[in-house]
Amino acid sequence: MLGPSFRIVCRASSHAVASGIDMGKRDQEQLRRRRTVAKAWYQVWCSAMSGPYAEEKWRDSFKQTHPCCSGCARHLSEWGSVDAYVEEFPKNSCHNFVSPFLVDYVRRDVLACFTEEERHRGLHVGRLFDAGGAELTDFATIRGKHAITLRGGPESEHRLCRVCGEHVYFPIGATYLLPHSVASGEPIYEAHVGFVVNRAIYERLSQHRWKHLKLAPLPIRDKPRDGLDDLLL
Ligand SMILES: [Zn+2]
Repeated sequence: MLGPSFRIVCRASSHAVASGIDMGKRDQEQLRRRRTVAKAWYQVWCSAMSGPYAEEKWRDSFKQTHPCCSGCARHLSEWGSVDAYVEEFPKNSCHNFVSPFLVDYVRRDVLACFTEEERHRGLHVGRLFDAGGAELTDFATIRGKHAITLRGGPESEHRLCRVCGEHVYFPIGATYLLPHSVASGEPIYEAHVGFVVNRAIYERLSQHRWKHLKLAPLPIRDKPRDGLDDLLL
């Protein structure tokens, strides 16, 4: 998942140091900062197919209580923790989402990798039930309290929604962050795909070998590669 931009930055820097090129103090400081920042954030996502489908009655009720824009499917109101009901037991992955709503869930052992403070600051946590109303106690629904936009290359999709006027953006190509996205320094951000977490959480998660749970460093670039310089996402 390392993008070409990340590899190029690291390779060029190593070459400069190895070949003894005399770097000015300012350059060295910039390099040090870039290395530190580049390793500070990680994307966490699920590589499995979509998760279980929502149970029919709950699906209808959720649609009523959480209406979406007809032009871009964006939720029209803020919402927090949610208790979801699914048609089938979540198999094969410890993190996925309830279709068709993109309500994320994780296994509780994954959730245990977050401290109480990190969970409180970064996540709304709810419960998951089967179609008969029995709680699936090994799982919890999660929703990030802070959204973040991963940026992509020139081929990334961008438009203004014809109904609500919001930016609709989907990164294509190697993803990265812009500095303002993580300026608030929260431990967890919700992204288009999965979550972005800080290094401390990454180190705890990476001690496990969960099937389909992917972890990858996210570089931070000063300038976007998608040509959308003025887009503050
Ligand atoms: Zn819209």
